[in-house]
Formats: sequence, structure tokens, C-alpha cells
Amino acid sequence: MKLSEVGEFGLIDLLKKDALLSPQQVIAGIGDDAAVLKSSPGHWQLLTTDMLMEGIHFRLDWSGYYGVGYKALAVNISDVAAMGGNPTHAVISVGIPEHTPVEAMQELYRGFREMAGKYGVNLVGGDTVRSPGPLVINVALLGEVPEGRAIFRSGAKPGDLIYTTGQLGSAAAGLHLLLEQPESPPEWASPLIKAHLFPEPRVTAGRLLSQLAGVSSLDDNSDGLGAELREICRASSVGCTIWEEALPVRQEVRELAEGRGVNYLDWVFNGGEDFELLFTIGPSGQRNVEEALRKAQITFTVIGKITPEDQGLKIGRNNGVWEAITATGYNHFQESLSVVPKE
Ligand code: ADP
Ligand code: MG
Repeated sequence: MKLSEVGEFGLIDLLKKDALLSPQQVIAGIGDDAAVLKSSPGHWQLLTTDMLMEGIHFRLDWSGYYGVGYKALAVNISDVAAMGGNPTHAVISVGIPEHTPVEAMQELYRGFREMAGKYGVNLVGGDTVRSPGPLVINVALLGEVPEGRAIFRSGAKPGDLIYTTGQLGSAAAGLHLLLEQPESPPEWASPLIKAHLFPEPRVTAGRLLSQLAGVSSLDDNSDGLGAELREICRASSVGCTIWEEALPVRQEVRELAEGRGVNYLDWVFNGGEDFELLFTIGPSGQRNVEEALRKAQITFTVIGKITPEDQGLKIGRNNGVWEAITATGYNHFQESLSVVPKE
């Protein structure tokens, strides 16, 4: 079906299906000038937004419309998780190229609902415009965290240990595979490709960390370990030491990098989009938090420690050499790994 057959309002009517998953807090959702929401007493509101642009963040031939909707919400949820919060309500704005079929947009919203359903996120509004070029999706997401419980980037102190959830470098490896062989990737590659196309925001881990004493800083790994460490260190006025041998990196990722003549650390530090949580814990909280994470079956690894600011950012390589961490992570205005193949 053509967009011109249904028009803007017909399209919105089709897309707003199953918009409210936990309606208790919604006084008015889609259909008025603004959504009207109740806030939970004793909570702080979180608000975040992230935009995905065709050709920069995604390629439709890789992810399909479903994948785009899924990831657009996932990356926003990850930012709420990185404050220790719970996502609640979203608005989605779409810039749609003229010849996009109506069914494609329904597919995009099906992906969005899939992610929304995992965390009970309500879709309470959006905006719809025509795009003369690429497909553009912007999501704005509200979340909440019990008063006083948000975890910032700025609380890390020398002596704290640095932790990450999950594995690092998988999404970057998946992106490499897609760039190389979009047709038929091998079986072993599917977790890596999935890490790039269908990231899982660490909401449970973030919420748990916000409830425990001693967690001094928290950030989600969207732009690569190098960039996120830099953010925490800058915000906290500290330095850090990372131990290469401690980094949790899948064997497939190491082998794939080696086979391509790439240093796997490049993917870990610059690749980004792993959406794991990076956090620090002071000495008195470490045992308790580790125990709670284990009990919740959340995988985590100690990857380094916080040092005084004048020590800078360093990595202890497996060969015993200390190097400065120079990786700056994904940066839109510099040449970095992206869905656009390099010439
Ligand atoms: P307004 O003119 O007040 O901006 P619109 O006509 O753009 O309102 O939108 C009508 C209603 O539909 C609003 O509640 C808006 O939030 C919602 N809406 C518009 N586009 C979308 C979309 N792509 N997805 C979900 N809701 C949408
Ligand atoms: Mg509008």
C-alpha cells in the first residue's frame, strides 16, 4: 500500500496499534496535542533521545524495517539503563522517504513494539514527516529512578575497580562481517551479527546497580570502551588502568580480527554499540555488588581500576608493555567504523 493512499493521519492510525503496554500512568496517549502522564511519587524522571539515520546507523538491507524499529528503541533504553533507571514512555518521530510502502512502516513499528514489550514501554506520541532522502527515526524516552538513586558518570574515585557487563567488541565484529559478506554469513557469526543488529539494553543490571551501595559511576558502552572510559574519567577527574588480559572478548572476535590483520583491541576500544554497562565500585561495595550480580545471573568482569587523574588512561598489554589509551571511540565527525563501507 502507498503512503499517499492512507495519508499522514491514516498512517498514524495504523501505526498506533498496541501503543500502551502499561497504561496505568497514561492519562492521554496518542491523539491529542501532547501526552499527559502521571509521574510516580518518590521517583526522579529521566529523559533521553537518540536518532538513527539510514546510511549512518543502519542499512535496511541488513536489518530490515523490523530491526530498525527494534534498535531505535533499544539504544534509548540503554541510556536509561545507564542511569540505573527503568524506561516508561516513548515518542517516536519518523522522516519517511516518499516511496516507502505502508507495510514497511508497520514492520518498523512491529520491531519497536517487540523491544517496548520487553520493558513495558508505552508509545505515547510521535511525529510523521516526509523525508527527501534517507529514512530517519528519532526516539525520545522517559524513564524513572527512585529518588537519589541515579548513578552518574562523575562519581569514580582512585582505587575503585572498573567493571563491564557481558562481552566487548562483538558488535564491531558483527559490523565487519556484514560489511564483508552481507549475503551468507557463517553459523558461528550469528551472535556477532545479532550483537550489532539487535542489541540488548542492560536494564536489569542497571536497576540492580542503582539499588546497591558503593557503585560510584555508570555508563553504557555505545561508542566503544575508549570513549566511555574517557567520559567517566573526564566527568570524575580521574585516570584509569585497564588490563588487556582481563578484557572479556569472545574467541570468535579475536580470531576474526586476527584473520583480517586487525588488532581486536581496535574493535573493543573504538567499535562501540556493545551496549554493555561500564561501571566502577569503591572498595567497600565490591564484594556485596559482585555477589548480587552473580545471584541475578548477570555476567560481569573486572577490567581495570581507577587511578589519580595525572596518571592518564593506560592499558597494560599482555606483553607487559604499558600504553596510553588513545582510542576516542565512534565519532560522527571523524573517520570511524560505520555502516558506510570505506572507499
Ligand atoms: P500535532 O499537529 O499536534 O503535532 P500530529 O497531527 O502530528 O499532532 O499527531 C497527532 C497525534 O499522533 C499526536 O498525539 C502525535 O503524538 C501522534 N503521532 C504522530 N506521528 C506519530 C508516529 N509516527 N508514531 C506515533 N504517534 C504519532
Ligand atoms: Mg505533528
